[in-house]
Amino acid sequence: MITADALRAMPGPDRWRPACPCARLQCAGWESIGAPLAEPGFRRVGTLREPDVDEPTVEEWPGSRFWSADAPISPRHFPYNRCEVWACAACGRGFLQYTEVGGYYVDHRVRQLDPALVV
Ligand SMILES: [Zn+2]
Repeated sequence: MITADALRAMPGPDRWRPACPCARLQCAGWESIGAPLAEPGFRRVGTLREPDVDEPTVEEWPGSRFWSADAPISPRHFPYNRCEVWACAACGRGFLQYTEVGGYYVDHRVRQLDPALVV
């Protein structure tokens, strides 16, 4: 399981380069993407989900707005507590991926990791 400190140590948006394969992903806030992040363009770093918790809380960080570009990244709160952490295989830039599964749909959401927003 990945800790807040480990998230803070990952490369953030300042690593963005126009020529990088990940350049199209500039999602300061959550964005829906058609297909999940996958190898070989990205590598899976790990999960923020606690191993012994079946159903993580749906509480958000107090006062945060889910879709906001400056919402804090709190690994103990929704939706980060059920995220996978991925990194661009080329530049190492970090991404959070959260897949919402509804009755008739699967929605893959990605947010770029900004270490400055980790709480
Ligand atoms: Zn990249």
